[in-house]
Amino acid sequence: MQGSASSDFDSIPEVALSRIWQEGWLAPELRTTSGERVSVIYRGVWTHAHGPDFRDALVDIGGRIVSGAVELHRRSSDWRKHGHDADPAYDAVALHLVLCDDAHPPLRHRDGRPIPTVELVGFLSAPLDDLVARTGFVELGAIGHGACLPTLAGERELDVRAALREKGWERLFAKQLRFQQELSAFPPAEVLYRGFLDMLGLSANRQGMARLSELLPVTTVERTAADGGSKAVTALLLGCAGFLPLSPGEQALAGLTPAESAEVDQRWDVLRQHWRLRPLPSYSWTLDRVRPANHPVRRLAGFAGLVSGCAPDGLLARFSELLGEAPAAWETWLSSANPPFGSARKRQIQTNLFAPFAYAYAEVQGQHGLVDWVAALWEQLPGAVDDSVAKRTLRQIVGERRFPIRRALDEQGLHQIHHQGCAQLRCFECPIAELAMRYEQPVLYHVDEGIRQLQEEIGHEASHRLREG
Ligand code: SF4
Repeated sequence: MQGSASSDFDSIPEVALSRIWQEGWLAPELRTTSGERVSVIYRGVWTHAHGPDFRDALVDIGGRIVSGAVELHRRSSDWRKHGHDADPAYDAVALHLVLCDDAHPPLRHRDGRPIPTVELVGFLSAPLDDLVARTGFVELGAIGHGACLPTLAGERELDVRAALREKGWERLFAKQLRFQQELSAFPPAEVLYRGFLDMLGLSANRQGMARLSELLPVTTVERTAADGGSKAVTALLLGCAGFLPLSPGEQALAGLTPAESAEVDQRWDVLRQHWRLRPLPSYSWTLDRVRPANHPVRRLAGFAGLVSGCAPDGLLARFSELLGEAPAAWETWLSSANPPFGSARKRQIQTNLFAPFAYAYAEVQGQHGLVDWVAALWEQLPGAVDDSVAKRTLRQIVGERRFPIRRALDEQGLHQIHHQGCAQLRCFECPIAELAMRYEQPVLYHVDEGIRQLQEEIGHEASHRLREG
């Protein structure tokens, strides 16, 4: 063993072992505890999730090419402690990598096959402590099992908000980068229009809206608005989307009387021939359990009103005009949609489309003053916790503590932390974990207390598994 005593193994994060395997910081040839040579052909895909640590690896064990999963532990006895011996997900493990092989009797799969095991400490490319230090990972203890910052959110609120804002900025930059890439491929008006439809498709009908925007370029929509007004654009969008003729329920969603709906049908007949259009098939849309306010018919009808209100100059011209007075002017413009968009939708459009699009547009145009202005604006945009991802992440961070979210930056930070951290079990890269490690001692107390109660309720074995993951 290089550089670390067996008793020190407990302080080594298992994620650091995964990193060592991922980076290949090992000798070219390994040996199983039963003496078979092992060479790695492909180390597999790091799962960062439940189940074995790496999937689809390919290894040569004693001259046999074996494909399967790779699992890493500090000690081979952890296999049983973690309940893998009874878990079918671990039947696929082809190689078990451990620092210390202490399992007695030796490990076997559920069907009796022995599990090839390698004691890593004899095959490391450098002392273990050096490799662990190179990974930068630290043991995170109980973080992630309970709320991460149950006391800090009250006592050091500014630190928590700073972490959220850092992640919020990261998300804004990622979004503006996506718009910048699109701006290198499409005209700005097309990018804005596609972004608008994408926002209106959230969350169940983004694909349908994407197909609609491919079928119907912004130039066709704006030309129709300039020539025929609101009813013509409504006919074009709803007809191309495949919703015409509308049922009585859909007429109500679109805010149309039966007579107006009949006019829309007639207009569509003319437009489809004129532009040689074929409507999207009905399976393009997800309508089950979609709330009336989110129904694509309602949203497209509202958008038709907005586009026709921008004629003859078009969406981009109106958007650019309003830049100097945003965000109040954006809010007023979006409120002119009829049928109206909900307040959450309007906020999401400003945060996820208008601000990052304006930023990317200004970058591409070299308008550095505008870039700074959008950056300052991003700080002021309102935010709220009104979707399930933001709600869940906030609860994960602060538990039951009251922690108002009123800025888009904070809200976006929650989404970023969810997608990059909680959903992928990547606490080791999360600024919230950093705060918890530095200040939040009580989290360990709360979890230990929870475990104590659990022990009382369901017995020692189950709670032990909870602690060990
Ligand atoms: S990723 Fe961050 S917020 Fe999520 S559980 Fe881990 S430390 Fe907590």
